Amino acid sequence: IRLKQVVTKINYTNNDVVVSTKDGEVYRADYVLITVPLGVLKSKQIEFYPPLPQWKLNAIDRIGFGHYEKIYLLWNEPWWNFTNFYFFRPASINNSTEWRYWISANKWNGIPSITCIFAGNAVSPLTWKQNENETVKEIHETLQNMFPHIVIPSPSEVYMSNWNDDAFSYGSYSYISVNQKYEDPLYLSEPVQNRLLFAGEATSSDSYGYSHGALLTARREV
Ligand SMILES: Cc1cc2nc3c(=O)[nH]c(=O)nc-3n(C[C@H](O)[C@H](O)[C@H](O)COP(=O)(O)OP(=O)(O)OC[C@H]3O[C@@H](n4cnc5c(N)ncnc54)[C@H](O)[C@@H]3O)c2cc1C
Repeated sequence: IRLKQVVTKINYTNNDVVVSTKDGEVYRADYVLITVPLGVLKSKQIEFYPPLPQWKLNAIDRIGFGHYEKIYLLWNEPWWNFTNFYFFRPASINNSTEWRYWISANKWNGIPSITCIFAGNAVSPLTWKQNENETVKEIHETLQNMFPHIVIPSPSEVYMSNWNDDAFSYGSYSYISVNQKYEDPLYLSEPVQNRLLFAGEATSSDSYGYSHGALLTARREV
């Protein structure tokens, strides 16, 4: 296993496959198994030569690749009743909020921490582009509204994921989009010229979006 090898180009013109990396390494093989996330395939940051066939590009285009982010908030002392592991803030027309799903992680690591989860459209680009202090302030205000009888201190540490802008994923995991065709996961998994093989969660017809789905697709190809 060679780490930190960022693939930039895959050339399958001849009878072998030539894989080039960002730092100038070149690897030759009879076959390649491509397992980069669907978000990376959508971004077209790996150049295929010749270009991938249209049926493959259509599947890449149509299958959805979603948003799922977490903000981890840590306090020195828990201010909430930590026998509660989940909080949920229902949204309504009069009370729409991005800050809805909360998990208390005390149970697992003993550190007073709460994870705030965002999924789907709740991960608005605005939320993630504004600065961290503003986001933490909004979250703090939301929590304070949810627990009006407690004076909630500011968190001592905050960590925010950003799979959306991560150049090695550009999103979280795949989902069935409105435009998707039933066969698209099959097209995504289908080899090209019997030399470019494809695996990874999005190529799974029944366990897409899951780690075990990714594992099973790799076993399918080898
Ligand atoms: C926030 C979050 C929570 C999740 N929770 C769960 C859960 O509870 N249970 C569950 O089963 N699944 C969960 N998943 C989904 C699970 O993580 C994925 O389905 C799984 O990791 C997909 O595996 P994969 O091998 O297809 O892709 P990945 O694990 O994304 O692996 C792809 C690899 O390709 C590399 N790569 C990308 N671009 C390049 C390049 N140009 N050159 C070289 N390498 C490159 C990446 O660095 C990465 O190592 C979650 C995902 C997210 C984002």
